[in-house]
Amino acid sequence: MIFPVIYLVLVWFLAVRLRRTWSGVGVVVAAVLVLVAVNQLLGGEAGPFGGKRASLLLVLLWPYTMLIGAGGAFILALPRTVRGEYHCPNCHYDFAGLDPAGLICPECGTPWRGKGWNPLDPEPELIKPPPAKPPRGSARSL
Ligand SMILES: [Zn+2]
Repeated sequence: MIFPVIYLVLVWFLAVRLRRTWSGVGVVVAAVLVLVAVNQLLGGEAGPFGGKRASLLLVLLWPYTMLIGAGGAFILALPRTVRGEYHCPNCHYDFAGLDPAGLICPECGTPWRGKGWNPLDPEPELIKPPPAKPPRGSARSL
């Protein structure tokens, strides 16, 4: 009876990968419809597999279907990760505040090949602060 667990993990995994897309909604709806079809196939005395064994299964099938559908809907509503300019391409670790030259991701070890990784690249143009005012009284002493 490990099939329900595998089915749930598979459906929720696909929902995570396809969240916020119509194909993700299609996956969750199709998974729920398959379970409803199985429920109808086994349904009560009218179904071909009716009887005591089927009714025991049906007791668990509706809550399981609700779990797959509600959990899938929740996962589909989760926001997708927004990658910024200085994030690891592999694990999305935030590199903000780290020196990009020769940087290796502290989380997964992927070398950074984005902006500023090569120390031979020309320095980015920075806005230079205005020169500091000479201290008061220094002009008189000259
Ligand atoms: Zn990383």
